[in-house]
Amino acid sequence: MPDPAPARKGFAPARTLRDAASLAAAGLLPPGADLAALSAVAARYAIAVTPAMAALIDPADPRDPVAAQYLPDAAELATAPHEVADPTADAPFTPVPGVVHRYPDRALLKPLLACPVYCRFCFRREVVGPDGGLLTTEQLEAAIAWFARTPQVREAILTGGDPLMLSPRRLAWLLERLGEIPHLEILRIHTRVPVADPGRVNAALSAAITIDKPLYLCLHANHAREFTAEAAVALRRLTAAGVVLLGQSVLLRGVNDDPQALEDLFRTMLRHRVKPYYLHQLDPAPGTARFHVPPAEGRAILSALRFKVTGLAWPTYVQERPNGGGKAVVGPVWGDVAAETLATG
Ligand code: SF4
Repeated sequence: MPDPAPARKGFAPARTLRDAASLAAAGLLPPGADLAALSAVAARYAIAVTPAMAALIDPADPRDPVAAQYLPDAAELATAPHEVADPTADAPFTPVPGVVHRYPDRALLKPLLACPVYCRFCFRREVVGPDGGLLTTEQLEAAIAWFARTPQVREAILTGGDPLMLSPRRLAWLLERLGEIPHLEILRIHTRVPVADPGRVNAALSAAITIDKPLYLCLHANHAREFTAEAAVALRRLTAAGVVLLGQSVLLRGVNDDPQALEDLFRTMLRHRVKPYYLHQLDPAPGTARFHVPPAEGRAILSALRFKVTGLAWPTYVQERPNGGGKAVVGPVWGDVAAETLATG
């Protein structure tokens, strides 16, 4: 069965586009776009649209779900009253630079804060960007030492930024060092690279992630169209390297806020050996209000898929609690299913 929304034959620039003028020159902005306002957005929140993602955007479609994720909007300059700079409260849970320890048995390691693309709804948008957040070797050593002296932590989750933006050599070194820690039973990488910049998943990167310990890779993707032929090759390389693929998505107004879009996304993930793991409620980062979908609506959208799709396609719909309280399950609510089952025997 072909993908429900195959890649469009768009214009692929030769390099990643990083400012409003480049986006305009590539024909990706709507006619009459306010370049001054978009440049003001770019001065505050990093922009990056890779050639792979630019090629997916249909400039003639004002509701293009790929454009919505990556193209800046003047609305980002307005911060709503409920929005906060650090919605997941990483800072209070940071014992050493780059480490976030929020849950007993697992901790984050953010080796860098650069990404292949900069999502307009990013929960870490105040800190991610091409220039910042690369831990020095000394800081990485200190982070590794923290994991080594914290035996209750059984899982290291590499995130950022995007860990697959590290050079294969650096990534291999880091995974090897973490793998040497006996109580770290599994390693995990959170990444957007296989869809946003699939060419990075080359032989060197495949070799870097071929390790002895179980390695889970959590792929961030929000629309079926992101799974291009090139992304399929990248994901196949990862599974061939022994990596277990999970999917995480954000419920986003104008991107995937209807049952058909989510069904297409989850089914497409499964066809690429990616198990949908989390559907995130949008975190209230500054200037992201246009993407907000109320939780009650999100529950209704997911409920529309009930019984329609295989259980393999079901992610857990979660929302971060304020002040670093961890994830709360938003839904769907299964009590009515139990009642139906009882009623029908
Ligand atoms: S890939 Fe993740 S960390 Fe990077 S901009 Fe997108 S949401 Fe933020």
